[in-house]
Amino acid sequence: MSHRETRGVQLFDLLTLGRGPSHPGPRKEATAGRPIEALPPPAEVVLPLVQHLGDPAVPVVKKGELVRRGQKIAEAAGSGVPLHATINGKVKSIDKQAHPTLVQAQAIVLTSVAEAEATELEFPEDPAWRALGSEEMLARIREAGIVGLGGAAFPTFRKLRLPPGVTVDTLIINGAECEPYLTSDYRLMLAEPRAIVEGARLLARIVGVQRILIGVESDKRDAASALEVAAGEIAADGLDLQVRVVPARYPQGAEKQLVTALTGRVIPPRALPYAVHVVVQNVATAAAVHDAVRFRRPLLDRVVTVTGPGVVQPRNVRAPIGTLLADLVRFCGGLTDQATRVISGGPMMGRALPRLDVPLVKGMNGLVLLTGRGPFEEGYGPCIQCGRCLDACPLGLEPNQVSVRVEAGRATESAEFGALECYECGACAYVCPSQRPLVQFLQVAKSALRKQRENLAAVTR
Ligand code: SF4
Ligand code: SF4
Repeated sequence: MSHRETRGVQLFDLLTLGRGPSHPGPRKEATAGRPIEALPPPAEVVLPLVQHLGDPAVPVVKKGELVRRGQKIAEAAGSGVPLHATINGKVKSIDKQAHPTLVQAQAIVLTSVAEAEATELEFPEDPAWRALGSEEMLARIREAGIVGLGGAAFPTFRKLRLPPGVTVDTLIINGAECEPYLTSDYRLMLAEPRAIVEGARLLARIVGVQRILIGVESDKRDAASALEVAAGEIAADGLDLQVRVVPARYPQGAEKQLVTALTGRVIPPRALPYAVHVVVQNVATAAAVHDAVRFRRPLLDRVVTVTGPGVVQPRNVRAPIGTLLADLVRFCGGLTDQATRVISGGPMMGRALPRLDVPLVKGMNGLVLLTGRGPFEEGYGPCIQCGRCLDACPLGLEPNQVSVRVEAGRATESAEFGALECYECGACAYVCPSQRPLVQFLQVAKSALRKQRENLAAVTR
C-alpha cells in the first residue's frame, strides 16, 4: 500500500492515539532551567544583507560611517526586509563574509564604539498602537525587518498578506518547540508572555480572524500557564484566544502537525496552512511583532539556545543579530575538549557548520555543539526492510523506497513514495538501524523530480 492510501488514517493515529514518531529524547535539561541571559555588546558584528527568503537588502551606509544601534543600515529591496545596526559602531567594511547557510554573502561589518561616540536609538511607545489599521501594522512589521524566528526566516509581512481569494479563520501561535536540545522559545514564553499574547492579538487583527490558538507542548505546562495568565490580564477585545497543550513529541512543532493537532484539519501535500484557512506564526515572531507595532522597534536581538555536550556552560542567550558564533560560545564558557561538531538550529532539522566565525542570523534559534563522530561518518548499511522509518514518518511517506531508488540511480521514480512531500524533519533517519542518510536521499530525489518537471515544462511550452 502506498503512502497515498494510508496518510489520512496514519496522521490521525499519530496525533491522537499516540502511535507514530518516537520522540528522540528532548535533551533540554541543560538549558530548560536557565533564564535568558543578555550577551554584552560584542566588539564586532557581521550583518549579512540576506538573512531571509527574498532579495538582499541594499546598504544605505558607507565604510567609516558611525551608526547607532537601531538605525537602518540597509534598505529593503523587492520582497525582502531592511537591516539595522545591532550595536553602536562604525562601518568597518561592506564585503563578502562567511554566512551560516549561504557559505559566503555580502555583509555590513560593524566594530563597536564607546557610548560617547554613538548612543542607541530610543523607541518610545506609540500611544495609538492598539488602534492602528492592518496596512500600517504590516508596514511597521516590514520596516522592523521581522522574519519568521522559528527558523524559516520568511519575511513576516509577506506571510501575513493573504493571497487573493484566500480566507482564514484561525491564527495559530507555535509554542511547540519540539527540536531536541532547544529551549529558546520555552524560556521566551516564560519571560515575555504578555508580549507574545499582545503580538498574537495584533497578528489576528492583521489577518482578520477572531480565533487564536497558542499550541504549547505538554512538557512546557508552566509556559502554557504563563501565557494563560497573560491572556487573562489583557483587556478583552472580542478575540477568542485559547492556550492549548499538545503532546510533546517530535515533530509536533512542524506546521502540518500543529495545525492538525489544534484544528483537526489536514493540510494537503505541498500546500500551505492557508489551504485549511489557517495562518501560523512562531511565539518569538509574535513578540517581535508586538515590539515593532507598539514601539516601532526593529529586530535587533534574538534568543538562541547554545547547548550540547561540546560547550562548557549551556545557556539561553539574548544576543545582537550578527554576533559571531565564536563570541556566543565564549560567553558560554568555551568548547569542551570533546567538541567535534557544530549544528546551527536543532540536531534534527539543523545544518552542520564547518566553522564558528560566522554570524548569528535572524532565523537561528539554536547552536548545538556535539561530540563524537557524525551520523554518517562511519558509513551506512543497506535497507533491511525493518519498516521503522515508515512508523516514524509523521506524513506516512516511504523514505525506505525513496532511498533504494536513489541508490539505484532511479530517483525520478520516487514521487509515488512521497519524496516531494517530505519536509526533512529527520525522524526517519533518526530511527534507521542501518544509519541510512534518508534525508539526504530524499533531498536528491526531490531535486531530480523538480528538474524532471522543469524539463517537461520546457518541452511542452
Ligand atoms: S528504517 Fe532503515 S533499514 Fe529500516 S526500512 Fe527504513 S530505511 Fe530500511
Ligand atoms: S524526513 Fe521526510 S520522509 Fe523522513 S520522517 Fe520526515 S517527513 Fe517523513
